[in-house]
Amino acid sequence: MIRCKTKMELRDVLADWRRAGERIGAVPTMGALHQGHLSLIAAAKKLSDRTVATIFVNPLQFGPNEDFDTYPRDMDRDLEMLKARGCDLVFAPERADLFAQDFSTKISVAGVGEGHCAKTRPQFFDGVATIVTKLLMILAPDVAVFGEKDYQQLTVIKRLVRDLDIPVEIIGAPIIREEDGLAMSSRNQYLTSPERAAAPVLFETINLAADKFIDAGSGWSKIHDWAAAQILKAGFSKVDYLNMVDADTLTAIDKPDRPARLLAAAWIGRTRLIDNIAVSPPDSA
Ligand code: AMP
Repeated sequence: MIRCKTKMELRDVLADWRRAGERIGAVPTMGALHQGHLSLIAAAKKLSDRTVATIFVNPLQFGPNEDFDTYPRDMDRDLEMLKARGCDLVFAPERADLFAQDFSTKISVAGVGEGHCAKTRPQFFDGVATIVTKLLMILAPDVAVFGEKDYQQLTVIKRLVRDLDIPVEIIGAPIIREEDGLAMSSRNQYLTSPERAAAPVLFETINLAADKFIDAGSGWSKIHDWAAAQILKAGFSKVDYLNMVDADTLTAIDKPDRPARLLAAAWIGRTRLIDNIAVSPPDSA
């Protein structure tokens, strides 16, 4: 597995592969890898001849009081995991290689980049959209794989790629979960053991809430209140949102009459967990 720390080193390797007519698949990450990330590598490998993972904890997407400094970092372990999965190249740049001192450009996606996570993390999607655009320009992959775990992020990335005519295919990959249903996340490392024991309630509750919504046929707000109470009762400290939305536009829906997504974010102790599930209209099953 090749490791590149700079854009210059990367450019030569990618040029060789392109000359040989090889298809390049990209998997952007912030490291602290788990099986969720590795599933994206497996998906990219199926769709390309050469798989490139990026590891970069993107400062642009963290707010001033968020966990940029404490975000888990373990480069040696990440490299071992990627090598074992047959990843061909890791691009792990230093901040200075990506951002000039006077870097001043921002990519901002209106609509799907607003609401939900953006409500409490107003800088987040501009930060994600800007770094992803940069990585797609630098790598120029044929295909890039992102997890449905970050469903709003995936939607934002699909939208910016379409709007800016970036020549890459964006693939969404399913959420990988622990055995008890908790969605894998680098931030799960923050959980204390009682918090870890309570954490699967988020996934359990959104599943029950989605079933209730389908059965009731309308009226998300009542089910929302029931679900939020369940989550708080299990020991979560705050529910950021539980939104039933159209699966493409992420706008609120009140009837299960089209493909929907239930998006959720809640705090347990000092850790913010997100999750989501697909909600299919009854006659599509
Ligand atoms: P991150 O390192 O958290 O920025 O995530 C990098 C990529 O991995 C993103 O496309 C995430 O959506 C994806 N990802 C993170 N957790 C999971 C998971 N549990 N299942 C599938 N994909 C995931």
